[in-house]
Amino acid sequence: MAPYAAPVQELIDELGRLPGVGPKSAQRIAFYLLKLPKDDALRLARSIIEVKDRVAWCRRCFNIAEGDECGICADPQRDSTLVCVVEEPRDIVAVEKTGEFRGRYHVLQGAISPIEGIGPDQLRVKELLERLDAEHVQEIILCTNPNIEGEATAMYLSRLLKPLGLRVTRIASGLPVGGDLEYADELTLGRALEGRREVADD
Ligand SMILES: [Zn+2]
Repeated sequence: MAPYAAPVQELIDELGRLPGVGPKSAQRIAFYLLKLPKDDALRLARSIIEVKDRVAWCRRCFNIAEGDECGICADPQRDSTLVCVVEEPRDIVAVEKTGEFRGRYHVLQGAISPIEGIGPDQLRVKELLERLDAEHVQEIILCTNPNIEGEATAMYLSRLLKPLGLRVTRIASGLPVGGDLEYADELTLGRALEGRREVADD
């Protein structure tokens, strides 16, 4: 006999699929939800439905967007010749907080990771290439995370983009190695952006 009633087990299984939630946490959250007043639980359920119904990816940069384009792409004040390439939409938030950047972004929606079977084809690389001419891009800033996957992704992109005659830069070191951009404080990230260097030929 299954230890829990089917709906409870289903909830535990679904929660267990969330990033960073192991079986024990999934169980704990499921029992928390069971005890929650119905209104509160439904509010959570509705907000998941709402976000799936109303929010999609920006057709240009793959940031989160309410509509066809995100607020940054829709802003005519942003410099379209300068594109900051990041792994996830949350990295845009980190760079925006520095107040140092007035260009546009491109979200790869991940990073190259052979272990996880993620190659360039699983990322929004093709879509980046399609933007270069259309938006008269002159400089690409590789703002991927300072860890193995992020460095491999930056290396791959610089080899791809430099022969096209673009200025390709990488954010300066000084960020905590192995960490995520989102954990860097605004000042450090701002300095790393300002001190970006052209990627050397190899
Ligand atoms: Zn956008």
